[in-house]
Amino acid sequence: MNDTGLGLTGLDRAGLDRPGRAVDIPASSLEEMSREECGVFGVTGIEGAAELTFLGLYALQHRGQESAGICTINGEGTARVRKGTGLVADVFSADDLNALHGKTGVGHVRYSTAGDGSAQNAQPIVVRYAQGDLSIAHNGNLTNAQQLRNRLVEEGALFQTTSDSEVIVHLISRSRRETVEAQLDDALAHLEGAFSVVISVGEALYAAVDSRGFRPLVLGRKDEGHVVASETCALDIIGAEYVRDIRPGELLKLEGAHVEELRSLPPAPEVAPCVFELVYFARPDSNIWGVSVDRARRAFGRQLAREHPVDADCVIAVPDSANSSALGYAEESGIPYELGLLRNHYVGRTFIRPSQADRDFGARIKYNPVKEVVEGRRVIVVDDSLVRGTTSTSLVKFLREAGAKEVHFRIGSPPVKFPCFYGIDMPSRDELIGASHSVEQIAELLGVTSLGYLSLEGMLAAVKEYGPFCDACFSGDYSAPLVDVEKGLATMQNPPGC
Ligand code: AMP
Repeated sequence: MNDTGLGLTGLDRAGLDRPGRAVDIPASSLEEMSREECGVFGVTGIEGAAELTFLGLYALQHRGQESAGICTINGEGTARVRKGTGLVADVFSADDLNALHGKTGVGHVRYSTAGDGSAQNAQPIVVRYAQGDLSIAHNGNLTNAQQLRNRLVEEGALFQTTSDSEVIVHLISRSRRETVEAQLDDALAHLEGAFSVVISVGEALYAAVDSRGFRPLVLGRKDEGHVVASETCALDIIGAEYVRDIRPGELLKLEGAHVEELRSLPPAPEVAPCVFELVYFARPDSNIWGVSVDRARRAFGRQLAREHPVDADCVIAVPDSANSSALGYAEESGIPYELGLLRNHYVGRTFIRPSQADRDFGARIKYNPVKEVVEGRRVIVVDDSLVRGTTSTSLVKFLREAGAKEVHFRIGSPPVKFPCFYGIDMPSRDELIGASHSVEQIAELLGVTSLGYLSLEGMLAAVKEYGPFCDACFSGDYSAPLVDVEKGLATMQNPPGC
């Protein structure tokens, strides 16, 4: 447990050294800005908000394993927060949950790249401001976070974290508008890029999505109250009924059973929900943007089989994210689906250090082939995506060692060639194997018999009735302006922000 009570905004070095004066580059330099993938959850008007938020975060654990936090607000509008690094089940004890009272709750799980002070950046961020206690949980990356932050620091703002969410908090608290609703509206209008946010002020809960709708956020109903969550799997676990997706540009105020649609942000020319949520990130038992993630992945797999057929004995998945697309491939090809790779679900941090020579260590502790399935056989291995190529190289090696005669690698998405600036954590561009190598070169590096990627057109066609989608990581077509990149505050190689 790293933090109890209110996490009030404190001092950073830039502000301390030169309060209220212009600074060149703030203490939170480009390298220090965090990059995050996240899951958010909110509840209003339901007794035991802490337990519900805990369960909701449990279901959203796949969206972030680095830290977790729950803030609840009691009948007096007072916020209390528990947050820390680790998995949801490890961060909160029964005593912690018992100490969090109230019918309103905000929760967050976060994954971040190493070395960005994850305990400090754990959310929700909770502050006391002019209109009461405020908490915020944010999913997505702002593309003008550094620009906004620099301006705020010049104006004297003091930052405690490197997270985009704190930028939003400052914009809200500094707004000259009068009501909470107007201040939120004002703050959100300054943001570029991706945000799906859950905010509490006093006992009222607010939920907002950027005008392109990059990240999912769904609304549910339970008993006398409402729930918002990144994915429907978090509604299912608490028995909440799905109402609808929160639409691009929407700002909702939720108070128990009451839902108020506040003024929307100006609509973007085109909505751009992230197709990579469907490819890899969301859970297959979730339904986001009106599409079942499992059905979308199956459609990708079927299209993949049409584009890259091959004669083989079995289709196996790289579990778990490729299970649905492998099933789709098997359905379309008529080749039997088999369990050829097992994944250990209990892999955590280990004290055993791999020897220098064992480059496969990371994959070895996670995956193991079923020898009886692959030995002497022509195997089609389906994965949802290829990013660095390191895990896949190890997997091909394991399958060969287990006696696979042929290994045909099939990927349920196009080559990832560009970093994501909107909230999926991708390595920098020079580490993306698809950015620097042809399909033939990648096939050789992986050591496979054949390699086939789903085409961009094929992927988009498979889900076209739910689109259009953001496909920037595949196409380089960034719909929301990359303000910080354009201003020289971030690079294409290493996108900052959260
Ligand atoms: P690699 O062979 O190292 O490129 O790893 C490919 C695996 O990474 C695939 O099985 C994907 O499921 C998984 N993957 C895709 N995107 C991400 C991401 N943003 N973070 C972590 N893993 C990912």
